[in-house]
Amino acid sequence: MGRPDPKTREAIFTHLRQSYPTMCRRWFDDIVPIDLTGGTLRMLVREPVQLKYLRRRCQKQFTEAAQAVTGRLMAVKFVGENDPEAITNYSESNSTQSNDNGNADYPSNGLGSNEDDMLISPDYSFDNFIIGPGNRLAQAAAIAVAKKPGWAYNPLFIHGGVGLGKTHLLQAICQSALRANPSLQVYYTSCNGFMTQFLASVQAGHMSEFRHHFRNVDILLIDDIHDLSNRDRTQEEFFHTFNSLYQAGKQIVLSSDAAPKDIPDLEERITSRFNCGLVAEVQQPGFETRIAIIQNKAELRQISLPDDVVVYIAQHVDTNIRELEGVLTKLQGLSSIHNLRIDLELAKQAVGKRIGSDTAHLPTVQEIIDTVTHYYGVKPSDLLSKRRNKSIALPRQVCMWLARKHTRHSLEEIGGYFGGRDHTTVMHAIKAVKTKREADGALDHDVEALEHQLMAVPA
Ligand code: ADP
Ligand code: MG
Repeated sequence: MGRPDPKTREAIFTHLRQSYPTMCRRWFDDIVPIDLTGGTLRMLVREPVQLKYLRRRCQKQFTEAAQAVTGRLMAVKFVGENDPEAITNYSESNSTQSNDNGNADYPSNGLGSNEDDMLISPDYSFDNFIIGPGNRLAQAAAIAVAKKPGWAYNPLFIHGGVGLGKTHLLQAICQSALRANPSLQVYYTSCNGFMTQFLASVQAGHMSEFRHHFRNVDILLIDDIHDLSNRDRTQEEFFHTFNSLYQAGKQIVLSSDAAPKDIPDLEERITSRFNCGLVAEVQQPGFETRIAIIQNKAELRQISLPDDVVVYIAQHVDTNIRELEGVLTKLQGLSSIHNLRIDLELAKQAVGKRIGSDTAHLPTVQEIIDTVTHYYGVKPSDLLSKRRNKSIALPRQVCMWLARKHTRHSLEEIGGYFGGRDHTTVMHAIKAVKTKREADGALDHDVEALEHQLMAVPA
């Protein structure tokens, strides 16, 4: 048994920064190696959310780094402050369930595991959320809800386009509420997670466990609730879950890509429940907010960005914040592969290489239609027609999905292109492609191949 040499710690973190630059975060500084026994290097992580995240996402990388640095076969084990097992149990990698005991963030429910869905990123805290005119209301409401669950706004419904911080705010509520009161039962999942657990429970005859679990939390947060659209049985169950929590004064927080009234095929009684609390929209950030976000992300990833690089990225990437982060990742990648300092030249390359960026090629809807019809061997006029047979419907849906992802057209505009269909049809198509891709590897591959073809079209 021995305390690890501080130099070893430094060497491991240096190795991690070199080998996994985009994984490393400022909060890794708080990880403390405690001892090295029987081939296990134990590292103390005080924050439960960080502990869970590291165990789930960073275990392999840390172990690899520790082995590379020491030249010895060893395993890294992350332990919490009050982790009774940590002292004796070294066979962590074999026990997936045991980690969850003693963590207040996810009640262990005995329902099928949906674990990645519920994983909270330590990055998504209120401290790391930059406020601007487009998200001020949503952020303030989220803070209020985290401080006084069930009292401030119930439900809190946050909606807006992709990559604008909805998931970030939901997870920040979880972290902040749990930090203030670690005994709270906080449950975060996606709408698909809720649906999967519901269907699995029906099938297994475990509905009473399911209900007990979902109706006994203090805060229930469901991300991407628009996925309820058209799911009749899940809507029914959700409705009762909602009422039961609401009547008990428990907090409900939801996110969606559309306002309640714009979610297609959602029962009126659910829409009206969504509207009875606070509905807040998150909108695209302006230039100054983008600057602040880039600076914040760079700091979090411990990369230093010259001012002209920050300004250049903020000027050229204005679609959403996920895209901004994509550029930073690209920049880190380029800088570490070529061993170059981050400067304006490299930033231009990173922005240029981004799929769907404005300096890279942004396809037109016509190009999408041409590429897809060629790929599937159907006629463009068929896509615009009213025909609904499968050989036409699928390519049409794929076109709509691609148009939504890779052009700046609104749902209405895209519907207009495809024979005057309305925006709910386009939303349906997008959702259908998403669901089918998850279930069908071949389709997933087709869509990816199409994306590559589209991006390869010269500007
Ligand atoms: P959404 O759920 O709305 O699609 P996310 O919450 O996943 O979007 O956000 C995408 C990325 O952008 C995340 O990495 C998130 O941290 C970041 N982000 C979004 N809004 C902000 C903000 N206001 N400040 C800092 N980061 C943000
Ligand atoms: Mg999200």
